[in-house]
Formats: sequence, structure tokens, C-alpha cells
Amino acid sequence: MTSGKINVTVENIFPLIKKFLYSDHEIFLRELISNATDATLKLKHLTSIGEAAVEYGNPKIEVKINKENKTLHIIDQGIGMTGEEVEKYINQVAFSGAEEFLDKYKDSAKDSGIIGHFGLGFYSAFMVASKVEIITKSYKDEPAVHWTCDGSPEFTLEPSNKTDRGTEIILHIADDSTEFLEDHKIQELLNKYNKFMPVPIKFGTKTEKEGDNEIEVDAIINNPNPAWTKKPSDLSDEDYKIFYRELYPMQFDDPLFHIHLNVDHPFNLTGILYFPKLSGDLNIQKDKIQLYQNQVFVTDNVEGIVPEFLTMLKGVIDSPDIPLNVSRSYLQADGNVKKIANYITRKVADKLKSLFNEDRAAFEQKWNDIKIVLEYGMLSEDKFYEKSKDFVLYPTVDNAFYTWDELKEKAKINQTNKDGKTVLLYTSNKDAQHSYIANAKAKGYEVLLLDSPIVSHLIQKLEMDNQDVTFSRVDSDSIDNLIKKDEEVISKLSETETTQLKEFIETTIANKSYNIQTEALDSTAAPFMITQPEFMRRMKE
Ligand code: ADP
Ligand code: MG
Repeated sequence: MTSGKINVTVENIFPLIKKFLYSDHEIFLRELISNATDATLKLKHLTSIGEAAVEYGNPKIEVKINKENKTLHIIDQGIGMTGEEVEKYINQVAFSGAEEFLDKYKDSAKDSGIIGHFGLGFYSAFMVASKVEIITKSYKDEPAVHWTCDGSPEFTLEPSNKTDRGTEIILHIADDSTEFLEDHKIQELLNKYNKFMPVPIKFGTKTEKEGDNEIEVDAIINNPNPAWTKKPSDLSDEDYKIFYRELYPMQFDDPLFHIHLNVDHPFNLTGILYFPKLSGDLNIQKDKIQLYQNQVFVTDNVEGIVPEFLTMLKGVIDSPDIPLNVSRSYLQADGNVKKIANYITRKVADKLKSLFNEDRAAFEQKWNDIKIVLEYGMLSEDKFYEKSKDFVLYPTVDNAFYTWDELKEKAKINQTNKDGKTVLLYTSNKDAQHSYIANAKAKGYEVLLLDSPIVSHLIQKLEMDNQDVTFSRVDSDSIDNLIKKDEEVISKLSETETTQLKEFIETTIANKSYNIQTEALDSTAAPFMITQPEFMRRMKE
């Protein structure tokens, strides 16, 4: 038996790790399962290149609670460690064996999915354990070893009689952390962090029907091959929907469509984004985009990584190239992260364009569900705004949908004002303004239905960008000044009635910024209308 001191420069690094390294104690399980996964993937790699002369088989990772002993066990069938390796990898805090492995097998292992790289993950065990044991046997023909440490820099290392390859980590759960001895708590953590990790993870057993018999089988908590790791060409629309449910078991609406992200240069990123049905969706806050690194859940706070207007989407993003454990402001300054956000924006715009081109009718049907995201994107991301002309629609009160160019062409013909600008009439409330709408329609004008909450900002942006166009609400007076074909105007009121009415309204409405119109184009129109100059209306908004 040997004993010694853990090789660190700061004597009491444990309390530091315990306090500051991770604000979230529960991530210890994620870290240990990540190490077990790495150990398994390393073995897979070494057997595949012929460097480990052992059978890879169908390895799994097991998580076990021993309530009596107050221990939690994480057991893998990976490469294991020799005594020497334990000294090197475990006793040297902040020395990452994962990084060393990737360095050594640079070319062949770059897609192996190895997770670790800071060399700190293992010590997160001490956030919840008063004592940690490692019993490990390397795939190399060397005796097994048993390492024990109670959280002080002292450790012991002795031989062990473990015969099968792999590593067992035993956590003696501390008195203030006994929640981690509860099945439901561990189940919850596994479900949150490990649901899509690449090696099967067993937690307990379940009964399954086999013919007429019920048999006990391993309860595997994860799907090691989630949809985003597959090629889009290998997935059907149905597969994407099934994965959506897997991701959000409480979501009952199907997503409207999906976008499969897949890039490996200049950064590595895969993922699937979904446009959810937004209307009436109460889960909107809860079911967010999830960020993964090599299939390990990291966070569902993607602020700064995904452009803000797309945070209303759902789905997953998996990238080893997003720096973690760093502040959000640092994240925003990181060049890679900016590139990632731009890439996502571009992919979303490309997808929208192709959906529009492939099946315009279907796209129009979805418009009401997606417009909020798109309009918000036009306002907040210049790159998205530039591309939006290809697919953003402007619906009329009669459910016709125009693109911006189509709309301008159409309106130019008889909706031009005396300054030569094309006037686009719109309403944000079809019911409240129905008589104004009827009036405009009777004159042959198109009336747009723009009813999202940010529409006034969007209008401002469009006007600034298109000096030849101006928007007017359908109840404004600009409608009277449009240059149009000669039309016959009729009045339902006699001349005296008109004068009396005008006098009455003028004495009733103190504010003189209204116009009164008593002419109508057809007999179904309202007998008179009160309109307001567009600039007055906007001043009040
Ligand atoms: P990282 O995973 O970032 O390299 P960790 O502190 O999590 O750092 O782990 C340190 C090293 O200890 C690993 O790189 C690996 O070499 C070794 N190690 C930890 N857990 C295991 C395990 N279950 N099987 C084999 N080696 C392990
Ligand atoms: Mg690790």
C-alpha cells in the first residue's frame, strides 16, 4: 500500500472546489458519468485502431444506490486505470487525461466524442461525498487498484482484487447531501443531464413482457443515438416529431417544422431546431432550447449563443466549441460564439426560404404561428432582415398573402399619394375597424392585417428602408388623398343633413384633428366616417 499527498500547488484546494468551482452541486453525477463515458469511448477507439487487444462488447454504465451504506456507485466497463495512471490522472488536480488522450490520438480520435477537458470534473464528487473510492482495473494486463480519499489532500492507494475491466467510483454521500441517495432524485438528474449520452446507462431494473412471462431487464435511462447525431437523410419527418416528444415529453402539439443544423468548420455544431406552435402555448417558458456538449446536457439558458429572436424556438444544439463556466459577457465577446449565432440565423433563414419556395400554400397556412418570431428577427438582426424579403409575408384582411415586392407592385397602381409614395393601408383590428376596411375595399384598395404587438416598430423600419413607401392605418385620412381612378361618389345624406352632422360632430368632439367624410362608394358603406390624420394617430401611439 502506498500513500501520499495529492499533487496540488494550493494545499486546500478541496474547499475551494467545493465552494467555487460549480455553483450547482448536482452536476457531480454528470461529471462522473462523463468520465465513465470517456473511459468507454477511449476503449472503443483503442480497440478500433487495434491498440487494445480486448473485446469491446456492449459496454454499459451502471448507477447504483446503496441506502444502507449511504453510498452511490458509478460503474463502467471502459479502459480503467493502472496504479500509475491513478497517480497521474487523479492525484494531479487539473491534469486532464481526456485532453492528453485527444492530443495523443489527434487525427484518429477527433470525432470520438470524448467529453472531458479541464481535468477538474472528478473532484466535483467531493461536493456531495465525504469520502470517495476508486476501484479500477485497466484493460492492460496489470493488477487492479483501490484509491481512497476523504477530501483532504491525503489519499491511499492499495491493490484490489477486482477482476473485470473498468472502474467503479464509490461516493460516501455526506450528511448534508443525502438527497442523492434517493431514487427519484438520481432519476431526475439522469433524466436532465444524461438522457442522450452515447453509452447506455443502467439505473435499476424494470419488468418487461416476454411472451406470457414478465422478465426483469435493465432499466436504460438514455437514448445513446439521439436524432441530432444522425444524418438528415436518414431521418423522416416522423422521426423528427418523435424526437421532439422525446425532448419534451409534455408537449402535445406537433412542431410546425424543423431545421437540422450540421457544421464542422470553422466550428463544430450539430442540432435540431423546431418551430413550435406558439399560439396558446403555455409551455413556452419551460421547454427551451437545450445546449449539449458531446451529448451531455449543459444548460437550457442559450442566451448569447442563439440569437435572441430564436430563443422562442425549441430543440437542441450540441457543440464542443462553446466555452462553458464563463460569464455571459465573455460569451458575447467570444468570436466563435458570434459565428455560431450568425450560422444559426442563416440556417433558419435558408430553411424558411426553401419552405416558402417548395410549398407556398403550406407556408401561408403557418404564417400566423411563425410571424412573431420572424418579425422580431427582422427588427433585431440585420442579417435576418436582409434575407427576410425572400419569405416574409404581408397578409390582407381577406387572407391573401403578399411578399414585400408583390405588395409594392400591387399597391403602386392605385395607392399612390401626392408625394408619389406608395401608401400601404393596414389595420391591426379587423373587427373594430370594419367599416373603414369596407370603405377602403370599396375603393379597390388592399388592406393589410398587421396585428402583432411589434408591428409599429416593424412599420417604422420598413418605411426607413423603403423611402418610396409609407404605411397608413385604414382609419387615417390619407385614404382620402390617394390618387386613384375617377370614381363616382355617392352620399346617403342630403346636403342639409351633411351640414348638420358636421356641425354636431364638431361641437361634440373638442379635438379638431378629425376629418369627417360623408361620401361613400356604394350603398353598403357606412353613411359617414370620422378619420384622423396619420401623423396625429402615430403621435399618440
Ligand atoms: P477530465 O475528464 O476533464 O479529463 P476529470 O477530473 O474528470 O478530468 O478526470 C481526470 C482523469 O481521470 C480523466 O481524464 C481520466 O484520465 C481519469 N478518469 C476519471 N474517471 C475515470 C474512469 N471512470 N475510468 C478511467 N479513467 C478515469
Ligand atoms: Mg471529466
